[in-house]
Amino acid sequence: MKRAVYPGTFDPMTLGHLDILKRSSMLFDEVILAVAKSEKKSTLFSIEERTDMAKIATQDIKNIRIVPFSCLLVNFMQRMDSQIVIRGLRAVSDYEYELQLALMNRKLDPKLDTVFLMPSQQYIFLSSSMVREIASLGGDVSKFVPPVVYERMVKRLGFPPENPCGGQN
Ligand code: ADP
Repeated sequence: MKRAVYPGTFDPMTLGHLDILKRSSMLFDEVILAVAKSEKKSTLFSIEERTDMAKIATQDIKNIRIVPFSCLLVNFMQRMDSQIVIRGLRAVSDYEYELQLALMNRKLDPKLDTVFLMPSQQYIFLSSSMVREIASLGGDVSKFVPPVVYERMVKRLGFPPENPCGGQN
């Protein structure tokens, strides 16, 4: 039984994350989407909200589980009895950080390997931080996130605003 773990902050989950998750679910028997608590980043949604949205958005994918975590990834991997980390690679800009992370994780636990998957081209420039920024300025992010995430973002941020530029021309 090959089990892989796809860790991230998922603040919030985007269609890019979903693309990587679907691809990995076809490659492995079970994929655990691991939602990181994230101490250093202040998140828009709490870990409970991010986990809940991910569960709803992935209901139709059979062989996945959504599990929140707040410890070091290598320890979580052992707890989940998995040695395969999934990460998404977008543009070249992701490469250096992801390489560092993968090699550091392997130093901490030599049995770990990271598998990089590329999303469909339309998601190459999509990131959670960009979605949060566009939404916070009243832009429409419905094309970039699953419906449940869009609904919760509208509730949280109250967009689209009636007068986005504050009455200026
Ligand atoms: P981080 O907070 O470390 O950036 P995220 O939670 O945003 O992590 O994302 C988790 C993983 O998903 C990372 O490997 C990231 O590169 C990948 N990812 C995020 N957005 C996309 C996307 N649009 N296409 C492919 N992979 C993505």
